[in-house]
Amino acid sequence: MLDRKFILQNPEVVSENSARRGVSVDVQSICELESQRLAALKRSQEFNTQANETSKRIAGAKDNEERQKLIAEGRALRDQKDAAAAEQSELEAKILELQSVLPNLTHPAVPDGGEEDANELGFGKTEKPSFDFKPIDHLAIGEKHDMFDFEGGARVAGSGFYFLRNAAVRLDLALQQFAVSFLSDRGFTPVATPDLALTSVLQGTGFNPRGPETQIYSIENTELNLVATAEITLGGMLSGQILESEKLPLKLCGLSHCFRTEAGAAGRASRGLYRVHQFTKIEMFAFTLPEQSDAIHEEMRELECELFDALEVPYRIVDTAAGDLGGPAYRKYDLEAWMPGRGDGGEWGEVTSTSNCTDYQARRLDVRYKTAGQKGTQYVHTLNGTAVATGRAMIAILENHQRADGSVGVPKVLQPWVGKEVLEPIA
Ligand code: AMP
Repeated sequence: MLDRKFILQNPEVVSENSARRGVSVDVQSICELESQRLAALKRSQEFNTQANETSKRIAGAKDNEERQKLIAEGRALRDQKDAAAAEQSELEAKILELQSVLPNLTHPAVPDGGEEDANELGFGKTEKPSFDFKPIDHLAIGEKHDMFDFEGGARVAGSGFYFLRNAAVRLDLALQQFAVSFLSDRGFTPVATPDLALTSVLQGTGFNPRGPETQIYSIENTELNLVATAEITLGGMLSGQILESEKLPLKLCGLSHCFRTEAGAAGRASRGLYRVHQFTKIEMFAFTLPEQSDAIHEEMRELECELFDALEVPYRIVDTAAGDLGGPAYRKYDLEAWMPGRGDGGEWGEVTSTSNCTDYQARRLDVRYKTAGQKGTQYVHTLNGTAVATGRAMIAILENHQRADGSVGVPKVLQPWVGKEVLEPIA
């Protein structure tokens, strides 16, 4: 959420930024509602003062008649105070609703446009494979290895759910083990998070659990929702807390399942594991001082590159355009892996995403820091980045490491956990 003072002082900047990011909000009406709210607050304070003065006069009333008159006056003043206070609260709720729709400000280097307008920043160390046979997609590879059961998944939970089997289970666990140990060695504390979170925590991190386009599964008659990413739980973990500046940056590596309705995603290239309702993800998350967040963002991007270089997967790095940033991100980098079985002759497919959310999430979650010897507190910055989302990483590994005989080479860094150098077809 943007700072209200900033919105009121810079309505044009906020309007232009929102329009650039494809969000239409009437910033002027936020300003008008805020003046009405301040007026209602002032009225309620004035009525309260008058009611208190009237109460004091009751003790000095010269007779019962005057006392009764003062009591009635006091009651009327308190009713007026309550009405003004209720009006103030209603206006506050309306403003908060509009305020939370406003997207974060945007880093000056972010390109204009939508999904197709991202800036290509570079490529990974692994070359695209050149096959001397026609490569197949991960589903066809999975068939040879009896790795995926989408039919069984659909019987159990509906279309878009699946069972992993045999080597896919080993690969899935190996990716998690590898990412957790890689990040632990680089100062990230591993945290296994709840898979459910309260609605207020989702809203605090900028996820909307309500409405027809929501990506969130909610548990009926409760305030609980299945998380779409550990970003939600890790952000919520310190909500309402004041951190000590010398302990920042605080770097975490979260492990959670991720659940997404994928509303509106039908028709997009989403075969097999690419766009499913449940997957497992190791997520980097950091709470930082404001002046640290740009550097930590670069660090997260570099760690994602190192991880996918180690997995021997070809990828490109893109700087996401303004219209594709979503609400909380100030800047977002994606890695897109080469997926030889995707589309007609291979396509890039997003495998990681890292965002600097500056103080946008911290304001709503109320996570602050204080510096020893200084007065007051300030909001921290929050950042998140995918280390490995196991489903899409598996697509990239299977499709890039496939061989003519149907076997699949296991990237060196995963071999200790998979227990094999090569996966041989079993069906
Ligand atoms: P996001 O949190 O949306 O930035 O996604 C982070 C990463 O999770 C993406 O880069 C993908 O690797 C993966 N991912 C996102 N949505 C899905 C999905 N529906 N199915 C499988 N993987 C996904």
